[in-house]
Amino acid sequence: MEKILVQVAARQYEVLIERGLLAHVGELVATQWSPRKVAVISDQNVAALYQQQVVKQLETVGFEVFSLRFPAGEASKSLSRLASLAAQLAQAHFTRDDGIVALGGGVTGDLAGLVAATYMRGVRLIQIPTSWLAQVDSSVGGKTAVNLAHVKNLLGAFYEPDLVLVDPAVLGTLPQRELIAGHAEVIKTAALAGGDFWQLVKEIRTPAQILELTSELSARAIAFKAKVVMADEREGSQRQILNFGHTLGHAVEALAQGQLRHGEAISVGMVALSQRLSQLGWVPATVAADLTTTLAGIGLPVTAPELQMPAMIDKIASDKKNRGANLNLVYLPQFGQPKVKPVAFEQARAWLLE
Ligand code: NAD
Ligand code: ZN
Repeated sequence: MEKILVQVAARQYEVLIERGLLAHVGELVATQWSPRKVAVISDQNVAALYQQQVVKQLETVGFEVFSLRFPAGEASKSLSRLASLAAQLAQAHFTRDDGIVALGGGVTGDLAGLVAATYMRGVRLIQIPTSWLAQVDSSVGGKTAVNLAHVKNLLGAFYEPDLVLVDPAVLGTLPQRELIAGHAEVIKTAALAGGDFWQLVKEIRTPAQILELTSELSARAIAFKAKVVMADEREGSQRQILNFGHTLGHAVEALAQGQLRHGEAISVGMVALSQRLSQLGWVPATVAADLTTTLAGIGLPVTAPELQMPAMIDKIASDKKNRGANLNLVYLPQFGQPKVKPVAFEQARAWLLE
């Protein structure tokens, strides 16, 4: 079993990674929580596949368990869905001593995580990520959020779980498009980490190769993210590196109106940024080319023909969240050596469009 210790401020928790872990959820959760009420929150797809198994496991070790479900998809990261889940907890008389298990992809982790952060000002949380994206990225780092007023992640909180349980075996049911989309975050993290990790990821060309390497890739991606987050939980310049490709990527994701998965949009964002900055001489052409080849090689989109840089910049400018703020431009002069440059929005616009 891979074990990664995450230590943020005064909190400390483990990420456990092993094939077949789902069959031991009861005993593992019981190492963290005394008997209490537990809500297992999943989207309908994941609920149909895994919720019952997890609920049974938890009941066997003495928890009083409630299954909560919501429709799959980004649209569920909403204030109304947050309110409805909280209302269901209230109806079941949950108190602040009870707990939430977020069983699902990044949408479930973000939504159920924010429910846990806010219900009665905070109940305990355990993350069981089931999508590739969640197993390599979103389940660690404590960010939770819903979207509001067409702005992604506008309302959220930093909220760390007590435990993260990663079972790569559940990826067997994940649709291939989701596997590939999640892999964009692996490529992002490996590019930031450099060294062996980048060498390994650079060679991956097929979904079958991803599936052969899940435990190792998940452990490496999470260990790198944990190291960055431990140094800086709340987005000082250190943590900003994790947003590589994300400012443009979020614009692409919004403009695509549900046609692109998060990872696909981030892939387009990383490539658009690297290619532009390579024209400006900030990023060597070889780095931009290697990154593009690796993303395209696994089947990720690297351009969105109808979404050129001016449209992305307009979208960034129109987000209320970005008004008046500086942009932190994250770029890669070399693999393993990310740089963050805070620039005024107008300056970034000029550089990216010039
Ligand atoms: P998702 O949660 O919608 O999952 C993708 C799809 O896969 C869904 O239809 C889901 O039902 C299905 N699914 C998940 N696991 C499955 C399994 N084992 N078998 C079959 N189907 C399964 O989306 P995602 O790509 O996991 O996450 C994207 C979200 O994560 C975005 O909202 C993004 O903003 C967020 N995110 C958050 C962070 C963070 O640090 N909090 C980081 C990156 C991304
Ligand atoms: Zn992301």
